[in-house]
Amino acid sequence: MLDGFVPFPEEFATRYKQKGYWIDKTLGEEFDDFAIKYADRIALACNGEYCTFREMAERVYRLALHFIELGLRPYDRMILQLPNELEFVYVYFAAVKIGVIPIMSLPVHRDAEISFFAQFTKAKAHVIPSRFKDFSHQAMSHEIRKKSPALTLTFVSGDNVDPAFISITALLNDRIEERIPVAALSSYRPDPMEPGVFQLSGGTTGVPKIIPRTHNDYALMFKRASEIIRLTKDSVFGIAIPVNHNFALTSPGLQGALYCGVKVVLIPSPRTDVVFESIERERITIMPTPPALLLRWMEAPELSRYDLSSLDAVLAGGARLNPEAAKRIKPILGCNYHQNLGMSEGMLFWTERDDPEDLLINTQGAPMFEDDEVRLVDENDREVPYGQPGELLVRGPTTIRGYYNSPEYNKKAFTPDGFYRTGDVACMYKGRYLSVEGRIKDTINRGGEKISAEEVENHILSHPKVENCAYVAMPDRILGEKGCAFVLAKAGQDLTLDELCRFLKDERNISAYKLPERLELVHSFPMTEVGKIDKKELRRIISEKLG
Ligand code: AMP
Repeated sequence: MLDGFVPFPEEFATRYKQKGYWIDKTLGEEFDDFAIKYADRIALACNGEYCTFREMAERVYRLALHFIELGLRPYDRMILQLPNELEFVYVYFAAVKIGVIPIMSLPVHRDAEISFFAQFTKAKAHVIPSRFKDFSHQAMSHEIRKKSPALTLTFVSGDNVDPAFISITALLNDRIEERIPVAALSSYRPDPMEPGVFQLSGGTTGVPKIIPRTHNDYALMFKRASEIIRLTKDSVFGIAIPVNHNFALTSPGLQGALYCGVKVVLIPSPRTDVVFESIERERITIMPTPPALLLRWMEAPELSRYDLSSLDAVLAGGARLNPEAAKRIKPILGCNYHQNLGMSEGMLFWTERDDPEDLLINTQGAPMFEDDEVRLVDENDREVPYGQPGELLVRGPTTIRGYYNSPEYNKKAFTPDGFYRTGDVACMYKGRYLSVEGRIKDTINRGGEKISAEEVENHILSHPKVENCAYVAMPDRILGEKGCAFVLAKAGQDLTLDELCRFLKDERNISAYKLPERLELVHSFPMTEVGKIDKKELRRIISEKLG
């Protein structure tokens, strides 16, 4: 078993298998099946390029053979940082086919995050675009490799590949299957009970947490989710958010769509005009989207210039959809919607299309499986009365039992009997439906992208002019929340937002989406009774200031 992985207890694993949730197939075997079943259908579209399931499989198997030849083996870790492009799909499935575990990082991650993933997981490979949004991932990979001895392979998509690195295009052009038969891949079959993918938690701690998703539970998730949202062979699935996210990859995402033989359109940017143009051209029927994007679409002046009549449903998740916004979806976009409350740690809740309007608008849905166990508890872990708000605890056949290699943190993040403490505060609403009312975890949810307050605070504290700080969410009409830094400067020092952000970006190398968008200089902090900075009060202060 992979060191640092917390398996499901045997009793639960047996039950999940007996009940047919887990079928002991690897993600690679699931891929083999749909690649054969839908061979002649179009699988992928991106920037006017198309490929069938058969062509996709040929490229995936070719890359997998190259990965083996280059020394990658089952359970090796690979940091996958590609944007929404065809190569992402080839690399992802090539990795899982041979049990190499992709770490689903984002193209916008920078040295601070990637170095951590590389060192913490001892990743062997890093997969990057040659350039993305004017940033050189290749220069970054060189720097990271100097600090990360296990990282010995960098794969690059696109052109102008550094001679020290390996071009994905060159691998795809080299027909290795004429030298080594594709059947050889079957000797590298991973165990479906082991992690197939490492997702990332926005987390609440100084460093991100790694979420090990097994082949069994990940496949279960995308299959059931694809039924709930009613994917059919005539659906066309559009992905404009980073495909690396759990929401876009598995809920049901890329994998669920391909499993149903559905064409997936990878949209390279979430910009409104780019998305609308893709919907019109490819006749997209269904798309995952955080509420922030949905609001932008509904308010876009160019909306009426495009034919979006193919759109059948949008999937709203990642952050709370405001009920007023929910009511506007049908009149403005002319389509249905599903709300979902999801977490990369596993459990997924959905509203269904024919749910009564009250549930559709006011809740984030019900769990997917009978064996999904949900508890709402007070601060002493006692069940709250039905309808009252409590912290959401979850356990079930898609929910992890521990973060990778984090035994101490796992004691806090999971109950002794294995429930994951989500840090979300929710109310039970008519049967098993939930409405999310808030959270107790210390994160900022910026348009669906989670930011750990502690992680950013640690970076801010390293600024030479900073005595103390607190990073909190401030309300934003479109994104829901943005980060606001409250800073106590050292005596006689002054600090501007611009100066702080330049330091965080250039010296600390953190991703741009984590940067504060407002700075409040203070002389002291409000404190709680136990002597901690009172963040609730800071959130109230900034909300009031912003009106
Ligand atoms: P992630 O693992 O990045 O998907 O983040 C999971 C977290 O996002 C959840 O624990 C919630 O805090 C938040 N979240 C996801 N979907 C929703 C939703 N529909 N409403 C409110 N919060 C949500």
